[in-house]
Amino acid sequence: MSVRPHVAVLAVSDTQQFDVVVVGSGAAGAMAALRAKDLGLSVLIIEKAHKFGGTSATSGGVMWVPNHKLNSPDDDSREEALTYLDAICRGVQQRDRLETYVDEAPHMLQYLKGTGVKFEVGVWPDYYPEKPGARSDRSIVCPTFDGRELGDDRYPLMREQFNRFKLFGRYAMDLTETFSLMMQAKGWRKTVVTILRRYWTDRSSRKVSKRDRRFTIGAALMGQIFKQLFDRGVELRLETRLETLQVDAGGAVTGVEVSNFGRHYTIGARHGVVLAAGGFEWNQELRDRFYAVPGLTRHSSTPEDANRGEALIAAETIGASLEHTEEGWWIPTMTLPMKGASNFHEIHQAAFDVGRPHSVCVNRNGVRFVDEAIGYDQFGQAMVDDQLATGANCPCWLVFDADFRAKFSAGGFMPTVLMTDAKVPSDWWDHYVFRADSIAALAAKIAVPAGPLGQTVANINEYAKTGVDPEFGRGSNAYDQMFGDPECKPNPCIGPIAKGPFYAVPINNGDLGSKGGLRADSRARVLDGAGAPIPGLYAAGNNSGSPFGLTYPGAGATIGPALTFGYLAANDIAERSANQR
Ligand SMILES: Cc1cc2nc3c(=O)[nH]c(=O)nc-3n(C[C@H](O)[C@H](O)[C@H](O)COP(=O)(O)OP(=O)(O)OC[C@H]3O[C@@H](n4cnc5c(N)ncnc54)[C@H](O)[C@@H]3O)c2cc1C
Repeated sequence: MSVRPHVAVLAVSDTQQFDVVVVGSGAAGAMAALRAKDLGLSVLIIEKAHKFGGTSATSGGVMWVPNHKLNSPDDDSREEALTYLDAICRGVQQRDRLETYVDEAPHMLQYLKGTGVKFEVGVWPDYYPEKPGARSDRSIVCPTFDGRELGDDRYPLMREQFNRFKLFGRYAMDLTETFSLMMQAKGWRKTVVTILRRYWTDRSSRKVSKRDRRFTIGAALMGQIFKQLFDRGVELRLETRLETLQVDAGGAVTGVEVSNFGRHYTIGARHGVVLAAGGFEWNQELRDRFYAVPGLTRHSSTPEDANRGEALIAAETIGASLEHTEEGWWIPTMTLPMKGASNFHEIHQAAFDVGRPHSVCVNRNGVRFVDEAIGYDQFGQAMVDDQLATGANCPCWLVFDADFRAKFSAGGFMPTVLMTDAKVPSDWWDHYVFRADSIAALAAKIAVPAGPLGQTVANINEYAKTGVDPEFGRGSNAYDQMFGDPECKPNPCIGPIAKGPFYAVPINNGDLGSKGGLRADSRARVLDGAGAPIPGLYAAGNNSGSPFGLTYPGAGATIGPALTFGYLAANDIAERSANQR
């Protein structure tokens, strides 16, 4: 296996031919490459970034796989999964692709297990828990992986999790540790000590890299898959960007033109090119073209500037069609200055923070618009709908009191237990974070009308007593409650906003990537405007349209399909290549 960050090839030669060229090294690309290699094909992965793993390596690494049967053969069923998906999915354009997902995702998982990749069933309610067919055991998570198994020259080259997902920006945490610290659950201080001790006693790793060798969540998933790729000798070229697709006289895709440190060259693909280059969330022009409320690229929580839709444009140029491009995988985000890096900002996800007790989200009219504890994609969708209806959302405001501040983070604004008001940098106040002694004074600071905001807060204080939110049902279902505070009674998601000082942070409609992309069929073949497959061209992950249309069914609903359609692309390429022999 070679990882080649500095390839400098000037011309096409015999060595520049592979059976399969995979564009992008995230979940979709890595899986397509692994499966293709195991089916006997020669494979090259090209990755434009200086690190491999894509957004996938920075993610939670959760995979939503219905009917997986990992616990028991009686768990879940095809029918139950389809009942759920039929009840929730908006705008699905290809029913057969949805059904293929339900049928094939468990096979993909079994294949992955067979390669040695380890995972387990998580406890995570589906995102529409009240709908028929919903369950709490479809989200699959990965145990910790020792990054040094990739080799000391390679493990620092895998894309690293964002600082905000690491303790003090350096130490890796798994999901249980993250949630324990987020909620300051019993024993959280001990957890901190264990994490620090583990890192600092590992002297040999620190001689290699400051990077924590303990790969968790998305890094654990991608680390494990790359271990399999490296063991099989699959070639990965970093700093190598897809520019255009090569097409023969019959319209079949035969290779790619790439750029590498300013040099351009072509690479032939005998049997297929798999586009797995992620979404277009970092391309402002494409956001403006597709989204009803475009938002800014820098509100995205994916790695900066990586996924710019270049592969989508290259395929569109040769006649590929698109689907589901009108929305992102929404997640509320907020912005703070990046520590230790002048002039840079950090985007912080606020997915679970916006639904904690002693807080409320309002539009710029001071009015609520959603059950704040709802799934993050639905929260973002509500922001878009409210913006279209009122023109006073995107951003909205998260308003909270001193009780919230004592315990919970608001995006990257850490609770007082970690950062007291006295320690907040003075330039944050009234720019990133707003504070006042009364709700009326806070309203004036954030330019929200005091009357409606005061009424909204009074309503929440009333709902906190009864535990019932008659407007939006906040805290009334299993998903909401999972991220509430069990100590807050009678409703873990609603507490009074009564103890000053009062705070507000602006919340943007951020994303985890874009939902739509190339229109691909149930074998991951990219379709042209007439619905016919473009020979030799495949797409998976956020480079293609989601099988769920515009809906996020549960935790892991982007990585599950990315892996599954990467796997199916490789299966189809292998089948076609066998027929050609
Ligand atoms: C913090 C965070 C947590 C998340 N947690 C989860 C989760 O737990 N479960 C879940 O399902 N989803 C999660 N998501 C969303 C999920 O990570 C993405 O939807 C998913 O990883 C997309 O996978 P992909 O393979 O399509 O693209 P990516 O993983 O983004 O990989 C695409 C790769 O293509 C490369 N590339 C782009 N353009 C080119 C080009 N022109 N040439 C060559 N290479 C190119 C990019 O550099 C990148 O490495 C999370 C997202 C974030 C930001």
